[in-house]
Amino acid sequence: MTYNTKKRFGQNFLVDQFVLNKIIAIIDPRPEDFIVEIGPGMGAMTSIISNHVNKLNVIEIDTDLVNYLKDNLAKNIIIHNIDVLKFDFNLFLGNKIKLIGNLPYNISTPLLFHLAQYNNIKEMYFVLQKEVVDRICASHSTKEYGKLTVMMQYKFKCVKLLSIDAESFNPKPKVQSALLKITPLENIVYQDINEKILYNIVNTAFNKRRKTIANSLKCLFNTEELQQHNIDSNQRAENLTVTQYLSLAKYLFNKSHNLIKL
Ligand code: SAM
Repeated sequence: MTYNTKKRFGQNFLVDQFVLNKIIAIIDPRPEDFIVEIGPGMGAMTSIISNHVNKLNVIEIDTDLVNYLKDNLAKNIIIHNIDVLKFDFNLFLGNKIKLIGNLPYNISTPLLFHLAQYNNIKEMYFVLQKEVVDRICASHSTKEYGKLTVMMQYKFKCVKLLSIDAESFNPKPKVQSALLKITPLENIVYQDINEKILYNIVNTAFNKRRKTIANSLKCLFNTEELQQHNIDSNQRAENLTVTQYLSLAKYLFNKSHNLIKL
């Protein structure tokens, strides 16, 4: 079928069979796996994976593609014709979801924040813009390290598994891509963290990333408080580790609930 791709839905279809096979070997679908695919498109990954599993759920916003998939894909595929940002993954409560997808790059950051709130997701394998993957997986004290790094790494282990050339897609995107594996952290330290407070600190720090941390966070902490967390006031936002941001968030939570006497 000839199909005019829609830019607004970030439609860059994976057409390189070698890359597709590599991704599927990494995902390693098993019959009993509860796999959910975001954005199946014309079913490049979907059709192969559906051969390996008992059942496959897919979420696709584009009604034209949904109609195509209904006519062309195997019967063990359940299609949800909805915007994934509005999809409630608690519908699959009781299952440990393996979430996969060659994601529409225009919604990747809000989508990751949306997904981060669910605890029934076992692992995620996403093809994303390489630059976003590099930011998510960054180490502190690098230029890629930022808000997205901290907000993802405090909850998840994030590993870049594969670089993918623009030539592997049709239409060819302007950017390079990569496959990212995201796994919830086993240690539950993050459950003590108030996410809104953490986000506020991280957002405030990185909004002025060229300034010293004492300057950018002066509305939240004084120099002594930073020192208590082994933070040198001359450091900048990117020099603080994820653990240091978490300890600042815990401290601020306790302070705002009068649990710390000043
Ligand atoms: N999986 C296919 C492939 O690799 O060839 C298509 C990937 S394409 C990059 C992204 C897919 O996500 C498209 O099918 C697009 O229609 C769908 N999509 C875009 N925005 C979406 C949204 N908000 N919710 C659900 N699907 C969306």
